[in-house]
Amino acid sequence: MRAFNFAAGPAMLPVEVLEQAREEFTDWHRLGASVMEISHRGKPFLAMAREAESDLRELLAVPANYRVLFMQGGGAAQFSVVPLNLAAADATVDQVVTGHWSQRALAEARRLIAHVNVAADEGASKYTTVPRPADLKLSARAAYVHYCPNETIGGVEFPYVPDTSGVPLVADMSSTILSRPIDVSRFGLIYAGAQKNIGPSGLVVVIVRQDLLGRARKDIPAVWDYQAVAAEGSMFNTPPTFSWYLAGLVFKWLKARGGLAAMGERNRVKAERLYGAIDGSGFYRNPVARECRSWMNVPFTLAAPALEGAFATEAGAAGLINLEGHRSVGGMRASIYNAMPLEGVEALIAFMKDFERRKG
Ligand SMILES: *Cc1c(COP(=O)(O)O)cnc(C)c1O
Repeated sequence: MRAFNFAAGPAMLPVEVLEQAREEFTDWHRLGASVMEISHRGKPFLAMAREAESDLRELLAVPANYRVLFMQGGGAAQFSVVPLNLAAADATVDQVVTGHWSQRALAEARRLIAHVNVAADEGASKYTTVPRPADLKLSARAAYVHYCPNETIGGVEFPYVPDTSGVPLVADMSSTILSRPIDVSRFGLIYAGAQKNIGPSGLVVVIVRQDLLGRARKDIPAVWDYQAVAAEGSMFNTPPTFSWYLAGLVFKWLKARGGLAAMGERNRVKAERLYGAIDGSGFYRNPVARECRSWMNVPFTLAAPALEGAFATEAGAAGLINLEGHRSVGGMRASIYNAMPLEGVEALIAFMKDFERRKG
């Protein structure tokens, strides 16, 4: 039996994708070997890899002047790889701080760059808000502006793309990529760890505007140099082949379901129902300002925090798993990425109502 899995990441994958992977697990494309057991430089793997890239480009409508890189090290590696590639040690960069992940990116930027300007820090609201566009204090000559469009732990999502007046905008989209259409041309660079909305961990997708390649510091490790990786078609060294393959299946799954416009509509409805149930209850509470509530990660607390353990245990027994909030903040959190069907959200809402009726 498959549970409805609300984990924040690694997260639920579409069951159709897992079933196809199982089907061809030991013998892929009649090669007599698994996709994990063949050369990444052989024709079959290369064809699959190129198709995955072109499907991703189609889904996100990636303009021709952007390169798509399949790299390793997860989202966190990019906290250092971005500065090493895009900014000299004595440069200035702007960092927007809206919660846990943008704080982690800020800490790494401070280790690597002399002038790190905090363009906004939402600490005053306990990271339940995003800055208004007019409140972003951007530097005149920053190498780039970094922000996190969706804070996975706080459940805070930007309802707008910041206007940086031509300065490259760098976005950590780990937990929001592919959840709805975006205009890639607004960004200099997008990165996303795979294990939320793309596929298994071990893979990070980087979408970078071509003119930003070739700016890396001389002492950067070669495997982290975007230009070197791009020149080799993400085969500078052995890529995470299984993750790449599975991501490719997820891209096909998304295309078969109408692409990101259709997915965005489904995600909007899922989020609306869950927030509606929370706001309508008086027993559950979501602390995030309404206009910047995440479509993907929905944290909530119970009126009686002592009941949180029972909530998680009983939900688990009912087939609704991994609802515990992040260890740093507690409470509950329902991550409702693309693979979570509306029925899963409705089952959670029904459970929440029943729990409240019995214990509230
Ligand atoms: C999960 C996550 C990360 C970290 O990803 P790793 O693959 O564990 O390095 C970074 N940023 C955001 C927004 C995330 O959700």
